Amino acid sequence: MMSYPELVLPRLRYQFCPMCRTELVKKVLNDDEIDRVSCASCGWVHYPTNAMGVIILVTVDTRIVAIMPPDAPEQFPAALPGGHGEYGESPEEAAIREAYEETGYHVAITELLGWGFNKTVGYPGPMIHFYYEARAIGGNARDSEEGRVQLFGFEQFPAISPQRGGSRRTMELYAEKMKQRSSR
Ligand SMILES: [Zn+2]
Repeated sequence: MMSYPELVLPRLRYQFCPMCRTELVKKVLNDDEIDRVSCASCGWVHYPTNAMGVIILVTVDTRIVAIMPPDAPEQFPAALPGGHGEYGESPEEAAIREAYEETGYHVAITELLGWGFNKTVGYPGPMIHFYYEARAIGGNARDSEEGRVQLFGFEQFPAISPQRGGSRRTMELYAEKMKQRSSR
């Protein structure tokens, strides 16, 4: 069995070429000194890619849209909407789609608050996250399987679990922005 680094998801640890079924080999193919898993028979090369995710802080007038996940611990009841980008989808497109799927609101992106990168071992693997602020431009609050939708003022927004690093980071970045705005 050819070995893969810990960071590569088990489901991506191919041993045989998905195109021609030849046993794969590890080889430096370019002048980058990086071992590539590749097929000596048909030339297929395995390029694993990082996953992409988005978190969206949606405002409805002066309130913020919270998702209340059914499995959230009592002391950390809230989360922000978010999810994975689909293949070929831009971060903005993913943010607009996920916001609608999870909250029922059609949104317009206001600002990219920041981004982060997690070298997660385990699903979905290493992942880049984009943190957006967006405002509702239509639609109505609608619960999803991710949780009930509730609106809160900034000061009243319930605690977000430390397990939800992306939601917390997005809220922190938004709080910093609010502080800057009010000190002007
Ligand atoms: Zn092949």
